[in-house]
Amino acid sequence: MNDVVGIIYPAEKKVGREALSIHFLQEELERLGIRSRVYFADSINLGLMSEHRLIMVSSHYENNYPILLQMIDKGGLSLQKENRDFPKLLVGGPTTVNPLPLKHVADFFFIGDGEALFRTLKEKKERKGTLTLQEIMDTVVWHENVFYEGRCEIKTAVCDLEGERSPLATVDGTVMIEVQRGCRRRCLFCLIGWTRGRCRYRSLDDIRLALSRVKKGSVEKVMLIGSDPFSNPELPDIITYLRKAGYEIGMPSIHVSDIHEYRDVLKLIKPRTITIAPESSERIRFELGKKFSDEDVLRAARTAKLCGARNLKLYFMVGLPAEQDKDLEACADLVNLCSSLAGMRVKCTFSIFIPKPHTPLQFAPFEGVDVLSGRNKLLRKKLRVRAHFTNPKRAAIQTLLSIGDEKVGKMLLQAYRYGLSYTGWIAAARKLGVELEDYFNEKTLEYVFGFECINTSVCKRALYSAYQKYLAKTIE
Ligand code: SF4
Repeated sequence: MNDVVGIIYPAEKKVGREALSIHFLQEELERLGIRSRVYFADSINLGLMSEHRLIMVSSHYENNYPILLQMIDKGGLSLQKENRDFPKLLVGGPTTVNPLPLKHVADFFFIGDGEALFRTLKEKKERKGTLTLQEIMDTVVWHENVFYEGRCEIKTAVCDLEGERSPLATVDGTVMIEVQRGCRRRCLFCLIGWTRGRCRYRSLDDIRLALSRVKKGSVEKVMLIGSDPFSNPELPDIITYLRKAGYEIGMPSIHVSDIHEYRDVLKLIKPRTITIAPESSERIRFELGKKFSDEDVLRAARTAKLCGARNLKLYFMVGLPAEQDKDLEACADLVNLCSSLAGMRVKCTFSIFIPKPHTPLQFAPFEGVDVLSGRNKLLRKKLRVRAHFTNPKRAAIQTLLSIGDEKVGKMLLQAYRYGLSYTGWIAAARKLGVELEDYFNEKTLEYVFGFECINTSVCKRALYSAYQKYLAKTIE
């Protein structure tokens, strides 16, 4: 097992098996001639983890950090990297733009598109003919996009996708394939818009080539993955090609403006569910960067219905800076109005706003558990459809893990010993003498975030001025 690379996805298998990142790592390692073994939170063989020299971790949500700790612990490994010679842990994925909360646990962090690491490894293999695990580990240590103790100014890797082999995840007759990465917009709260780089696409030829790897007759549906899929100029051709080939098509996210503009393409897809994220009331939504009105949402829902959709999912955030009761009431009114559209079943989710690193709203305060509980209560009273809400205590912990520093990393380890509940975190903060308000309060330009060691090519002053502009337009 020494020469087999471990891969961790810190969630249950039913979630993780759909993650393209896992398939990407497995396929790329295989192409280098390196075997791998995947572990999910509910894998029964976690004990085998101690036999690896290198484990790659795919990290998508801050709230999965505690699950990662549980997996490492169950695998019989020391949680703290100082007490562990091997395996070395290399963490990749969107949350690594703030590696600090996991700094005591993981040895290395890859920042940005993993393709950049595997390109370097492939070049090395081409020069030498073979590649050993030790050579992979040496490459990780020297790679310009890898962060570890003592390194700073690490840039995020941004790779073009055209011509790259596309990973596939096949689950229950559906194959997941990425058609696009990045986003044309830069909504002030969004990690994708500010840290994932410019829009990049996969061409029709690349998609065709990728699907030729799927076993004939094993797949009925193709799920097109991308945060801004219609920014791919070849998307209408890709959809036409897939329909002609007899596939059903799914798309988890479509922008409101694209629903109307590409209604003829949507008619080909006949989506059962359409997802729209209005985020907040019109006045706040516009200043966040989402330039569409409530009327646009209704029009998009009607168009989606004409295209065959029967379910409408709406996503909102609670606790955005400058939010007032009237904003929440406007959100509830919009949901209620959508639910009155005949033939559409509406589901809505109100998650709590989490300040994300390297975005203008990184400076925004976390409103506090009591205030947010009150806002959830107000919404529950106004809504006529069943909604899903985030627990404010869970959001408080996520805020710490999102924008926190090494001290939060220490708290995470301490809270793990106390059982990881909210009270466990409070007790951990008390024991370590950490003031949680330091992380929850609004920040000034002078506040030094731990994650400033990562360079996303956007200067802090520009982020701050975008935040101030937002406040000037929204505070009444
Ligand atoms: S449109 Fe969506 S993915 Fe793009 S920046 Fe805004 S929230 Fe992020």
